[in-house]
Amino acid sequence: MEKKRLYITTPIYYPSGNPHIGHAYCTTLADVIARDRRMRHYETYFLTGTDEHGQKIEKNARLAGLSPLEYVDNMVAVFKKLWEALKISNDDFIRTTQERHVECVQKVFSNLYKNDDIYLGKYEGWYCTPCESFWTETQVGPEHICPDCGRPVEKSTEECFFFKTKKYLNKVLSWYEDPKSVYPESRKNEMVNTFIKPGLEDLCVSRTSFKWGVPLKEGENHISYVWLDALVNYISALGYGTDHDELYQKFWASEETEIIHLIGADITRFHTIYWPEFLTSIGARLPDRVFVHGLLMMKDGKMSKSKGNVVSPYPLIERYGVDAVRYYLVREVVFGQDGQFTPEQFVERINADLVNNLGNLVSRTVSMVDKYFGGKIPEFKSDINEFDHELEIMTNNTINSYVEKMNNLEVTEAYIDVMNLLGRANKYIEESTPWVLAKDENKKENLESVMSHLARVIFVGSKLLEPILVDKSKEIFIQLGLNELETDFDNLSNVNLLNNHQVNKTGVLFPRLDVAKEVEYIKNLMGGNK
Ligand SMILES: [Zn+2]
Repeated sequence: MEKKRLYITTPIYYPSGNPHIGHAYCTTLADVIARDRRMRHYETYFLTGTDEHGQKIEKNARLAGLSPLEYVDNMVAVFKKLWEALKISNDDFIRTTQERHVECVQKVFSNLYKNDDIYLGKYEGWYCTPCESFWTETQVGPEHICPDCGRPVEKSTEECFFFKTKKYLNKVLSWYEDPKSVYPESRKNEMVNTFIKPGLEDLCVSRTSFKWGVPLKEGENHISYVWLDALVNYISALGYGTDHDELYQKFWASEETEIIHLIGADITRFHTIYWPEFLTSIGARLPDRVFVHGLLMMKDGKMSKSKGNVVSPYPLIERYGVDAVRYYLVREVVFGQDGQFTPEQFVERINADLVNNLGNLVSRTVSMVDKYFGGKIPEFKSDINEFDHELEIMTNNTINSYVEKMNNLEVTEAYIDVMNLLGRANKYIEESTPWVLAKDENKKENLESVMSHLARVIFVGSKLLEPILVDKSKEIFIQLGLNELETDFDNLSNVNLLNNHQVNKTGVLFPRLDVAKEVEYIKNLMGGNK
């Protein structure tokens, strides 16, 4: 069943450092998916936010001489500013310190408790402070290293509430049987082999050794374990458990809604084992897809300040424009795989795809329509020239493959197809030689057909690129003389849409970048980012 409603979420980010291009990656991809579905008339709800509780925040705030809330307020403003600069179209921004969220966590905890899925016990184990995770002796090994992040762990004992993780394990395993539930498949196997098969231990879901968290009604001095707290954001933002839960009913409870969580690999366990269990305990349905995206890394590994290889997205947006940065993020790294940021690839990608392929096609076509037909796009006719049919078929195939791939979250692949279509159209210009046709009055119909075919490809390409190129696509529509209503997605199949439209020559869409100069510029940014 194809679902016509979408709820898509990013992880809620931990506001303990300045966001870099790696943070921008996941949120931009989620934004492109959300914008694509809105464009295709899906009812869409897109959530992002910040994860603001925990011992590490408490500690960092103390070091900064601030209260935890003052500390996170400052950091959250930084994240929000970045999303604004990247034109992220989220419908809501959840903060785990908000009253609506705190009340929801308490409600969920009480429901788990009432269902007899939680009991009071004593915890003795190895604790990783950065990950806020308890580990067993076997998991940390003789080196006493956190299996998630590889940092050293500390021995710790405290009274806490435990969640009975074996009770709903069958439900999780049957959810795994749906091939879409966890992507990529290797992550699912990793969960089964690393955590489930060796015997899942009950999960400690409360803490008493520090204060910065959601206080629990079931135990004095107990606050919610940050992971229970954090995961609940996906439903607290929708009003779960309140008497104004229309969003929850529509975007979570309804089977008509496709629910997609985009996450990084380091938080797979929480999203694909415990989160489905908590949901099952409170009688809620499970997400349709947990999609584990790859990492955008630097050549010498993960971005870190000490390596001097952090790329801040701001100067890139300022110099190259938000559309170019968004396009790079979607296209350079195949969604679902790891990728590397290099200044060379960034500059070359923009030149190859946006300047040469898209930009050239638009400027050449608009100029020719202007020159040969006084700016009026000729009427569309099929099969006048040798290569018309092939281009027309490819255009229709690209629309279909785009829809299919986007539905399947093959975002990068969908846009490779779009770029191939534009590349084919550039080649079609060379094959059809409109400048030769223009010299022969008997070839007028042939010339008309070339122009109308090119205009159609430009409309289809720029419409499909609109979820990424949030500004430039609109500029192209204006160049084609289209009004906003005409650019509706449903008009993509109408080959006559552009007949007799008056083109408007405007400025250059994407200026050509001087590779050596721009690579130098970005390298300086990376070195100078201190
Ligand atoms: Zn860790």
